[in-house]
Amino acid sequence: MKIETKAVHAGDRKKNPDAPGAFVPSSTPIYTATTYFYDDTAKLDRVLGREEPGFCYGRYDNPTRTGLEELLTELESGHSAQVCSSGMMAIHVALLAALTDRRKSVLAANALYGATTTLLTQILEPMGVSVDFVDVCDLAALDHKITETKPGCIVMETISNPLLRVGDLDLIAELAAEAGAALLVDNTFATPLLIRPIEHGANFSVHSLTKFLAGHGDVLGGVVVTDEAHSDIVRTLSRTLGPVLGPFESYLTMRGIKTFALRVERQCANACRIATWLQSHPRVSRVHYLADPNHPDAAVIRRLLPEGLYGALVPFEIKDATKEDVFRFMDKLKLVVRGTSLGDVHSLMLYPAIASHREIAPKQRQRMGISDGLVRLCAGIEAVEDIIADLDQALS
Ligand code: PLP
Repeated sequence: MKIETKAVHAGDRKKNPDAPGAFVPSSTPIYTATTYFYDDTAKLDRVLGREEPGFCYGRYDNPTRTGLEELLTELESGHSAQVCSSGMMAIHVALLAALTDRRKSVLAANALYGATTTLLTQILEPMGVSVDFVDVCDLAALDHKITETKPGCIVMETISNPLLRVGDLDLIAELAAEAGAALLVDNTFATPLLIRPIEHGANFSVHSLTKFLAGHGDVLGGVVVTDEAHSDIVRTLSRTLGPVLGPFESYLTMRGIKTFALRVERQCANACRIATWLQSHPRVSRVHYLADPNHPDAAVIRRLLPEGLYGALVPFEIKDATKEDVFRFMDKLKLVVRGTSLGDVHSLMLYPAIASHREIAPKQRQRMGISDGLVRLCAGIEAVEDIIADLDQALS
């Protein structure tokens, strides 16, 4: 089945052999119970021992959560999925799983979501994990750094935040496998409609479900989708630590995912029109957009991403703008929402210097190419003419 079909059907309509009557709800209900009752203790014993499928305790499993996990496993072509209380929790669980039986050493892309960098440098590094950074779009530099640091895990984003760089996932996965390192890919910006990292050799594909997948700005959640080799350790970590997503949020996410392909297609189309319009705007000095033939990773983008689906994000630089100029521009937006997120049905504008990359020292931000004039638009599903009109009045 194609991904648009899986998004609507996978995970739903499971039969419960113990339920009275023969009805099956057409969409997965919200199960709030934390414990489950069986007529005989021998059956509970078999369920607890995982000899028989079933549910016994909310930290281990929950039927609403399981429906969502089956859906995400299908969408990402994984072996299993674990949904978590946030995207950051999902990244943390995946890192623990990757490093459990490998060298305590991480080689990370130097362009990452700010909190992922913070997790590596301020939490894992003080705990004894060595952390190094590299430009994963430079394969020679990556190869060299792998030899030098012998990482247990390589961490990257399919489409990097906020400058939209795209590494060659197949070749990076090959280099990681040769070195015995796990490859952990944050696929939040791309969504499984654009790319499914496990199909390209990644061991973990993680998402902030908060963004495109849940899609409506009302759920905080994350997921770790894994290959077969890492399924058991992720499950053990989750059952032990309880980083899980609640049943209500699981339900909302599952409901959101049913329309995610439609939404993302529309958002990509809107982003394309907006990027083209911005490119000729006199107040804009640079537009970062994946369809741009001059994009530094144009060849990789053409090979890895489906034609016409280049994501919903349009970071752009306002010409010679200071922080105060950007604040004035942001304050003038009437339709586009000023917010520290992306992937919602409404268009969102974020200022990386005060939000996603706030923790990074200004000089390092400049080195990373994140100037004071850089803002990041994520196109929503509104009529594109209305988004453009709002940007135009705010820019002028
Ligand atoms: N990964 C990326 C690329 C993100 O942009 C974000 C949040 O903005 C996260 C991970 C973290 O997700 P959450 O806020 O759901 O913890």
